[in-house]
Amino acid sequence: MAKDKILVIGANGQIGTVLLEQLRSIHGADQVIGSDIVAPREENGPFVVLDATNVLALVETVHRHGITQIYHLAAVLSAKGELDPLRAWELNMRTLFNVFEVAREVKLDKVFFPSSIAAFGDSAPQYDTPQATYLDPSTVYGISKVAGENWAGYYHKRYGVDIRSLRYPGVISYQSMPGGGTTDYAVEIFHEAVQHKPYTCFLREDTLLPMIYMDDAIRATLELMEAPVENIRIRSSYNLAGVSFTPAQVTAEIKRYYPDFEVQYQPDFRQMIADSWPKSVDDTAAYQDWGWKPQFDLARMTQVKIGRASCRERV
Ligand code: NAD
Repeated sequence: MAKDKILVIGANGQIGTVLLEQLRSIHGADQVIGSDIVAPREENGPFVVLDATNVLALVETVHRHGITQIYHLAAVLSAKGELDPLRAWELNMRTLFNVFEVAREVKLDKVFFPSSIAAFGDSAPQYDTPQATYLDPSTVYGISKVAGENWAGYYHKRYGVDIRSLRYPGVISYQSMPGGGTTDYAVEIFHEAVQHKPYTCFLREDTLLPMIYMDDAIRATLELMEAPVENIRIRSSYNLAGVSFTPAQVTAEIKRYYPDFEVQYQPDFRQMIADSWPKSVDDTAAYQDWGWKPQFDLARMTQVKIGRASCRERV
């Protein structure tokens, strides 16, 4: 059987950096092409500087490298999107259509496209938000994710394109910094703590949000993509749960390692976005269809993250 040849679009981002490395360790560096609109800080394998809004450049890259799978991560995220809504819509949808059209034309084996908890809005139940519920997102980012989910279902039903998707919660990383989302505080807070600096949080201390540790997010992505096609019953996007916590709860956990750590709260426009999102999500479908189970709770995540972050700060 021919080997998979994978293109990761948006490979310099918070998730792409880690996913690219993981895919290369599984498939071999030469089998996984990184790409982004800017060059990476360091190259550990083939990389193409590519603007994914440019369909001709995308088609050329797919043909030149014999690509069989695309992980499409490029997007303008929730908070950044609100600063220029039309640009966010244009970029998120243009890149999505380019990827889906190329997948249809070239008959790619599989495509991964992440949705987000931002797909939910005020009408969805806030606790254990169900897989199927009314979607009235509060941000242009969320609107683009809901549209993307529907188009993913359409391309599968109409053209048989195998597009798979997860509604990621806020992703907590230690390797890479976030790119303009509403859950970014949960990454920044650790970076400040290990540098013995105080942190000013842009959300209220009681803002409960669904989060997921990067290792779990990457494992979920790979498990979804490896699952037998007949197991993938949801062709919009799967709810995915990790762990839910508030800024106050993560601060208390960090203080077990850094008792002097101080946090102040100055909620800004991101509070309204966070208030429209779920507090926890029901990911039973992901468990039933392809066996999803998160491994990181808040205590384990904090322990591992502080260990890794403090190693990095010392280097
Ligand atoms: P990020 O902002 O860190 O990275 C996005 C990358 O896309 C950047 O490296 C950027 O340079 C690149 N990019 C932007 N425009 C491009 C273009 N025209 N062509 C090619 N590349 C372009 O985002 P992330 O946090 O890594 O998120 C990746 C995906 O996961 C996004 O679709 C996002 O919506 C989704 N997601 C992320 C989170 C999270 O917490 N990080 C949560 C839910 C969903």
